[in-house]
Amino acid sequence: MSRYKAEYIWIDGTKPTHKLRSKTRILEEGTEPQTWGFDGSSTQQAVGHASDCVLRPVFVCPDPIRGGDDVLVMCDVLATDMTPHGSNTRAACAEVAERYASQEWWFGLEQEYTLFEGTRPLGWPDNGFPAPQGGYYCGVGADEVFGREVVEDHLDACLAAGLAIAGINAEVMPAQWEFQIGPLPPLELSDQLWVARWLLYRIAEDYKVSATLYAKPVKGDWNGAGCHANFSTAAMRESIDACMIAAEALGDRHDLHIQNYGDGIEERLTGQHETCSYRDFKVGVSDRGAAVRVPWHVAVAKKGYIEDRRPNANVDPYVVTRLIMETVSSKTESLR
Ligand code: ADP
Ligand code: MN
Ligand code: MN
Ligand code: MN
Repeated sequence: MSRYKAEYIWIDGTKPTHKLRSKTRILEEGTEPQTWGFDGSSTQQAVGHASDCVLRPVFVCPDPIRGGDDVLVMCDVLATDMTPHGSNTRAACAEVAERYASQEWWFGLEQEYTLFEGTRPLGWPDNGFPAPQGGYYCGVGADEVFGREVVEDHLDACLAAGLAIAGINAEVMPAQWEFQIGPLPPLELSDQLWVARWLLYRIAEDYKVSATLYAKPVKGDWNGAGCHANFSTAAMRESIDACMIAAEALGDRHDLHIQNYGDGIEERLTGQHETCSYRDFKVGVSDRGAAVRVPWHVAVAKKGYIEDRRPNANVDPYVVTRLIMETVSSKTESLR
């Protein structure tokens, strides 16, 4: 009887930013990954005397690291009575996605991240700083980019896993990169983004590098790392009016979004480095200093999608997609 490896991946209870955990289960050929368990007292999800938590598979894909028949199994965490655990943000996202399914929501997230070697960004000099920002964004050459081998391996892994990865690019700060996932419906998008993050950490491990989602990895005149959330409903894909209504709606609950868009957001959204201050809310066409941007090609085509530029790199995609749907849906409901 042949057997295969299933890497069960889940989100822990670490605060303020949840981390990923995973462990391996050996399964018999022909059987699907079933619910499993783990020790929640080691992941900030339980106390020692009642430590069991349940892993429920929600998304399974080929494991591009191990290859063969092996799989990655993204899970959400349940209590032993099979209700969502307190750390489980997917359950609320699923509820809201279901409620507004008729609007046909799509999301595309741009995950920025920073590679670190020890305590410094990868390739940065032992003492002092690299040359100021300017030549690094989408750069080429050993003096401009650091860690391309990690980034290329990650791209190949996402493709082999069948994830909806849309592209990659080097970012404004040296050792900072981005990949995009989507467009996909909110739950699929979020499940896949968490798997893509896990693959990134796992692949960087082989290079003795750590991939981080810090929002402001280096203080001073260096760009922070965000996770721009592009989104559309069927109505927005038909008309710019719906896009503008959605953009304005986001302003109604600006503070609530800021509070839930990732740890350290005030440090990143300063009004400099291609951000809008967290104190302000501004919609703009092509404006990278706006909180919400209408891409130029959307303005030209008079339909498409908009970009919420506020989320931090360390945001939880289940939270950002849920909040956007909750805030915008009531305003766009009548547009279909
Ligand atoms: P930027 O110009 O901000 O760097 P990117 O090209 O990095 O933009 O990312 C744009 C993202 O928008 C892509 O990941 C894509 O998946 C997403 N996207 C494209 N069309 C739509 C749409 N109709 N609805 C939602 N997301 C979309
Ligand atoms: Mn981008
Ligand atoms: Mn970017
Ligand atoms: Mn963007």
